[in-house]
Amino acid sequence: MALSLRFLAFVSFCIALCAFPILPQAFVRTKATTPDGKEVALFWNEFPIKYFINKAGSPDISDLEGTYDAIKASFQAWMNPGCGCFQAEFVGLTDLAETGYNQDKPAEDQNVIFFRQGDWTHNRQAVAVTSVVYSRSTGQIFGFDIEINDRDYRFSLDGSSVPGVPRPIATIDLQNTLTHEAGHALGLDHSENKSATMYASAPPGETSKRQLHSDDIEGLCSIYRKETASQTCQISRSEQFLKGTGCACQSSSPSNHPFLPLFALFVLLFWRRRA
Ligand SMILES: [Zn+2]
Repeated sequence: MALSLRFLAFVSFCIALCAFPILPQAFVRTKATTPDGKEVALFWNEFPIKYFINKAGSPDISDLEGTYDAIKASFQAWMNPGCGCFQAEFVGLTDLAETGYNQDKPAEDQNVIFFRQGDWTHNRQAVAVTSVVYSRSTGQIFGFDIEINDRDYRFSLDGSSVPGVPRPIATIDLQNTLTHEAGHALGLDHSENKSATMYASAPPGETSKRQLHSDDIEGLCSIYRKETASQTCQISRSEQFLKGTGCACQSSSPSNHPFLPLFALFVLLFWRRRA
């Protein structure tokens, strides 16, 4: 069975909040369409999800350790609820500053978070873009990368204002943004709940989305179900092809997950950008 992987890219807009009324609709899982037209929701099946941070950080933030800590805290926020066997792990710093997926050597692929300055190629309204690589047949995610728009926005570790003309301009709180992007990386789409971390936009200076809303936690636990974790967590058959150990956690997606020996058949098709 020929399988293929796709990239999905999410775009977070950090513009004025829309004047639309707040809708009661809850979280939304990221969906994809299989080659035969079926809809599948994206999920991880190997834990912990390992990520690297580009060591250069941002010229906006002189405190490099603070930068790394803010990014780590963003992922930690999604681990705190303890949903299923969902785990994310900071592996180390890297010089890598590009997206992509090493399908020839998946164990060597790096999920990386990095800032772009002059080489930002996405919509300039986007504060950050998260790309995930997933199986087109099952929705299983195999990798992700997060690019941060350091060309059009000024970042800080506290969302504080900086002097500007004619009035002070608030900065983008790094942790606020990255907590949202981490939600995309684990399989959530935008929520219509304005208070949720996964709401599609955030004003400059906002820090409230560092903490997950109950809507975000419900979304997380719908993918990585706590009540089924003890019954379904097991050492993955694909462990031998990966570094370290993995915990395969049953999700609500189809059970016929592809296994890594089929990677040679995977083809990276294209990028799709979503607001
Ligand atoms: Zn987003």
